[in-house]
Amino acid sequence: MLTPGNYRWDDTVEIVIIGYGLSGAVASITAHDLGARAVLLEKQPAETHCTCSSTAMGVFLSLSDIERATEYMTALCQVGSQPGLPWTDADTVKAWVTYTAQNKDWITRLGGNIKFFSRAAEFPQLPGADSMELWKYQGNGFRMMKFMYEQVASRNIDVRYQTSAVRLLTDNTGRVIGVKVADGRGKTPREINIRATRAVLLCTGGFEESEEMKLQYLRVYPMYFAGGTGNTGDGIRMAQEVGAGLWHMNCVSARLCAKFPDFSLAFFIDFSGGGWSQRSMKTEKEKAPAGFIIVDRYGRRYMTEELKPHAASYECGWFDSHRLEYPRVPSYHIFDQRRVKFGPLAQLSSGPTGPHRLYKWSRDNLTELQKGWIVKGDTVAELATKLNMPPENLENTINTWNRHCQVGNDPDFERNPLELVPLDEPPFFAIRLFPGGSNTLGGPRRNSRAQVLNPFGEPIPGLYAAGECGSVFGLLYPAGGGNLAECIAFGRIAAENAMREK
Ligand SMILES: Cc1cc2nc3c(=O)[nH]c(=O)nc-3n(C[C@H](O)[C@H](O)[C@H](O)COP(=O)(O)OP(=O)(O)OC[C@H]3O[C@@H](n4cnc5c(N)ncnc54)[C@H](O)[C@@H]3O)c2cc1C
Repeated sequence: MLTPGNYRWDDTVEIVIIGYGLSGAVASITAHDLGARAVLLEKQPAETHCTCSSTAMGVFLSLSDIERATEYMTALCQVGSQPGLPWTDADTVKAWVTYTAQNKDWITRLGGNIKFFSRAAEFPQLPGADSMELWKYQGNGFRMMKFMYEQVASRNIDVRYQTSAVRLLTDNTGRVIGVKVADGRGKTPREINIRATRAVLLCTGGFEESEEMKLQYLRVYPMYFAGGTGNTGDGIRMAQEVGAGLWHMNCVSARLCAKFPDFSLAFFIDFSGGGWSQRSMKTEKEKAPAGFIIVDRYGRRYMTEELKPHAASYECGWFDSHRLEYPRVPSYHIFDQRRVKFGPLAQLSSGPTGPHRLYKWSRDNLTELQKGWIVKGDTVAELATKLNMPPENLENTINTWNRHCQVGNDPDFERNPLELVPLDEPPFFAIRLFPGGSNTLGGPRRNSRAQVLNPFGEPIPGLYAAGECGSVFGLLYPAGGGNLAECIAFGRIAAENAMREK
């Protein structure tokens, strides 16, 4: 714990924003346009800067009906809880809804290039789900962030790359008055103190890359993510030190994705081929081009493979207390030659294989087969043996699946009939899947003004948070585009309220 009080200040601004993803960009633009002298700190170098925001698909929510959206969010906040104990309080939901309804107009006013995407809530069975309107930045998260960088640059906002926030600095009353940073820009790195006369905003994302935090807080381990290379939970730890309460720590926006030991990020898989499963946020009407199933370590199906893109990972959380293992970690994506013909197995719209081009997946999947990322068997039994699972289990599972496909009905897990394509074109293949995907949601608890709260629900003066550093979403996530929407909404809320600080 740093001693509160007298610091040597190396620099003074009104607002310090930590983290240059979408929430940091929106907050700094908003603060600047309200007349603030702000500094934006980013720990990564400019040349290799890569965030959840820049690897995202670029879909964001802009709500069409505030009342219906409030109803939907309120219903989501009750799932997995009990009456009177919502995942997120009503005031904060209201603020999220109010600002999210303005998202499209905010980006359009800046000159951003967006298009209507769909109207597909993730949980259409809940009341108010029809209010979810999804828009997409053209060129995905990569172009969206390029646009944001241009907006920030055109305002001459002071951006400091290779500058990591290390600790928050407080006065004797507990008010956050500045940040200790490690400035790595010069020949010799140095520590300096930056004073914030109004507030400090945490926009440091989640803890996708902290093994320690994922082990301690998430419902299953390991989990892997596809974007947030710099997100090691720094903002969460800094907030804890100055007394923040935490929320949503065991919640994630995640599905099942591929992860290979020799590449740092996870990959989103295009399970059915031809981008078909990628369109899961749209209402699908055609037959899937190829079949696939997902099985556990023993070759058994355990869920409908119509994966909820932001909640399916919870299905991996079953722990077998006799065998002392998570039987669904890893799981396996099982497919046949029919799928291989439909192009790259990785999704090309986001993550490492998206426009960031952190990895170029081969068109015929051969490179990944040679690397051992894709496992092949001429027969189902051979594939199962290579995966260390009982061959008879996988054979039974696939025979049953093929019978379901023949009659057009999956009585086991009620899979969408459009996805009932048999696995009968050898050879057979598998990719190891882990729970994971977009991002963690937990972090410092915030209120409707984006103020960070202590464990008693009182604001910590001078400290705000936006984006995935303590997301407003709990167990369930409303629809594709919820996270970027929250960055745009709470980036503005945080900056506007920070500017009201004396
Ligand atoms: C592959 C992928 C696809 C996705 N697609 C979508 C989508 O289409 N729609 C959607 O709504 N959501 C999507 N998401 C989720 C969404 O991208 C994130 O939730 C959102 O971008 C988080 O933004 P952020 O500003 O909170 O954090 P980030 O964008 O992750 O930025 C955090 C920044 O903080 C920096 N930082 C961390 N610690 C420090 C420190 N100590 N000092 C200085 N800087 C620090 C990091 O280096 C990073 O630059 C996707 C996520 C992934 C991974």
